[in-house]
Amino acid sequence: MGERQNTIACAFDLRRPRISAYKTQEWIYAQLRLEDNEIPVVQIDGPKRHVYVKLLDNNRLQKVLHLTGGQIEYRHTHGEISMVRVETAGLGMRRLRIATLPPEVSDITIAGHRVLVSYEGQPMTCYGCNGTRHLYQAC
Ligand SMILES: [Zn+2]
Repeated sequence: MGERQNTIACAFDLRRPRISAYKTQEWIYAQLRLEDNEIPVVQIDGPKRHVYVKLLDNNRLQKVLHLTGGQIEYRHTHGEISMVRVETAGLGMRRLRIATLPPEVSDITIAGHRVLVSYEGQPMTCYGCNGTRHLYQAC
């Protein structure tokens, strides 16, 4: 429980090119507007493309969440843009089974929390409008 306290999880888009650990760290400092001494631990989960950024306290965490609004851009070397999900880590994974899910569902709200849904065979959807015919850059 304590391990993921005051930790931000940045979820990079799996469909985009991989980003090196060095570039990831650079991005954290620049985009999350954090200083070296504000981040005691950064943990990178390569296969899942998740980056866990542990912060000193909850105020810093709230600051980052407020600053990003839960989503932030990563600009690749060739100008491609990925949207990176920024959220509080360690709230725990919940798995549930839902029958008759419409194919366009990927982003729903449960009890006031934005919930991202993924499942086998899911069509790619736009972060902006949930449309299936384009991605966020073309929204
Ligand atoms: Zn769109």
